[in-house]
Amino acid sequence: MLDFRSDTVTRPDEAMREAAHDAEVGDDVYREDPTVNELEARAADVVETDAALYVPTGTMGNQIAARTHTERGQEALVECESHVYKWELGGFAQHAGLQTRPLDGDDRGVLAPEQVHDGYVEEDGHRPGTGLLCLENTHNSKGGTAIAPGAIAAAAEAAHEHGVPVHLDGARLFNAAAALDVPATDLVDPVDSVMFCLSKGLGAPVGSVLAGPESFIEDARRVRKLLGGGMRQAGVVAAPGLLALENRDRLHEDHANARRLAGGLAEYDALTVQEPETNIVLVETPDPAEAFVEALEGEGVLASPFGDRQVRFCTHLDVDGEAVDAAVDAVGRVV
Ligand SMILES: *Cc1c(COP(=O)(O)O)cnc(C)c1O
Repeated sequence: MLDFRSDTVTRPDEAMREAAHDAEVGDDVYREDPTVNELEARAADVVETDAALYVPTGTMGNQIAARTHTERGQEALVECESHVYKWELGGFAQHAGLQTRPLDGDDRGVLAPEQVHDGYVEEDGHRPGTGLLCLENTHNSKGGTAIAPGAIAAAAEAAHEHGVPVHLDGARLFNAAAALDVPATDLVDPVDSVMFCLSKGLGAPVGSVLAGPESFIEDARRVRKLLGGGMRQAGVVAAPGLLALENRDRLHEDHANARRLAGGLAEYDALTVQEPETNIVLVETPDPAEAFVEALEGEGVLASPFGDRQVRFCTHLDVDGEAVDAAVDAVGRVV
């Protein structure tokens, strides 16, 4: 099977397995796991924040951030197709007691500063007050769009004018940086915290990072414990995570494969293919997406239904150019 469902399906390679095997470990809740400590230091270094926290999943990283930045009963401004709004079980309400105010971004998922100003609610005797703005880069639902530093900064600046902190859901932060050919720090500098996944395009089996100022990360560590995310000899999974961080520079290969895939699929008249900016290819199908994906599976290729008539393909470490060409042929047999 050629698996294009997600960039989370990668299997750890030999080097990652060896690193896990050889990892020096301790109890990370006591902060005695040298490998986790090294990963957190290295991760903070990469995005140039004071500190970072290793978390089991991207979802938990986002949830910890929301809870840490806010007070119960506040509002969070989110993009209406964002992961935190659509795909995290309404966690902002469940874990942080927040009311979300979804804002309709443009067709690439960008929020304009005017929308942030308009969405802002001043706390008073009747109104909850805005406690957080959450941005996403790359924007998953819009097809992995890479949002430029200027757009991130403009939205963040609007929030900051009202004293509202900004969290960046950067599950695929380094895909954005690679596509835009900017250092990831350009995308992180304007915001107050960032989450990025080690377990997606970077290829780690487990783990994400929440990064930000020292005092924020201190508070976040308590919230991680509260949510049950305090892990013990986590160096075993952090060690492959350290190697994953070194995979940042190869993401342009996934992007090239995504362009190659999109180019191949666009040859079929039955399909409408969105030009990929990173490693995600969205395709409009003539048939319901579920049926299309099922037929494709019969041809040895897995993809994700991503709407009634939309299918998502993701490129990643475990699919090369040859796999892409085979997938294009398989889709040809289906259409
Ligand atoms: C995958 C993803 C997450 C969540 O990461 P998990 O590790 O799967 O919990 C958050 N935000 C975005 C944009 C994602 O694509």
